[in-house]
Amino acid sequence: MTTATPGAGLGLYVHVPFCEAKCAYCHFAIDPRRPDEARQERYLRAVVAEMEAAESGRADTLYFGGGTPSLLAASRLARLVGLARSRFFLPDGAEVTLEANPADLDLAGYRALRQAGSTRLSLGVQSFDDAVLGEMGRRHSAADAFRAVEHARTAGFASVSLDLILGWPGETGPRWERSLDGVAALGPDHVSLYVLEVEGRTLLAHRARAGTLALPEDDLVADLYRRTAEALSALGLERYEISNFARPGFESRHNAKYWADLPFLGFGMSAHSYRGRRRWWNVDSYGGYCRAIEEQGAPAAVAGFRVLSPRERSQEALFTGLRRRDGVDLDTFRGVYGVDVLGEYGDSLAAPFAAGLLETRGTWLRLTERGVLLSNEVFQAFV
Ligand code: SF4
Repeated sequence: MTTATPGAGLGLYVHVPFCEAKCAYCHFAIDPRRPDEARQERYLRAVVAEMEAAESGRADTLYFGGGTPSLLAASRLARLVGLARSRFFLPDGAEVTLEANPADLDLAGYRALRQAGSTRLSLGVQSFDDAVLGEMGRRHSAADAFRAVEHARTAGFASVSLDLILGWPGETGPRWERSLDGVAALGPDHVSLYVLEVEGRTLLAHRARAGTLALPEDDLVADLYRRTAEALSALGLERYEISNFARPGFESRHNAKYWADLPFLGFGMSAHSYRGRRRWWNVDSYGGYCRAIEEQGAPAAVAGFRVLSPRERSQEALFTGLRRRDGVDLDTFRGVYGVDVLGEYGDSLAAPFAAGLLETRGTWLRLTERGVLLSNEVFQAFV
């Protein structure tokens, strides 16, 4: 249901920008220098200052994303979880997700993360083919993924998610099946499946410009996406959003806030926030972010903001709502945003309906199976 649910808590996001090297496809805001003690401590001080200065509120999820949060010492993560509890009333047992790369931690490291308050692990596995991992610039192997999940489970992580990237150059059905076999063997509770996008200032984008990048055909990627959805369903993981599959009860509560137009506060370099009708975002370099706070105080972390017009807000709520399997309840949407979607966008929606990309079920509007694969075409209709 797309609605600003009354009483829903804030989502808190902390960006940890450290990475040991830049992956070939990465367009995230990162700092690929060794995160020694001094760099970690400086960053922690800045994030703590930002969290302490933020307008308070009641939060019910916390997400450490990156970058590579598993490169931040567990004692520092514990400090931030503690601050989320004291400043934002994050309750015991709240969903606290941490992204990690498979080779970063041993069993003691995962135990330390649990003790620091993390409840949910999101592992950047990406592929179970070591040759592909090498091409991606990942610094781990498929065997590391197996070890990581075993250690995480032993340490008490009851909720483990794996990230996979579909559509790498040279993708074939048999090669992708190896990744699906790896997922089946590991038995995760959640899978995030990302179709490769070549964008930004990445090595892949450079190769694309140079004409040396051979991406798989769209039809093959679409077939493999469908095959993956079937294979995950057989494992008990159902698609609940375009890129996300989960066992019942293991859906990401934090990410659900982004898709349901709910408020969230982001801390750290490049982090985005949304509260009321206002969006704002932070300085997107390590040095710039830390220096701004050190020299001018926490508010200087903000690089820009935008107050959404009612139309922008309803458009964004439509985009994000349609990403979910259930789609958008048109009656609720009209109540919250004052927009009759079929009346307002009827002309531009005619083509996606005719092409079988959109459907209505009762009062709900949602993407069809085919529409999920061509969602960008559908979203154009709302612009
Ligand atoms: S580990 Fe993640 S954030 Fe870091 S460079 Fe690789 S893709 Fe980017």
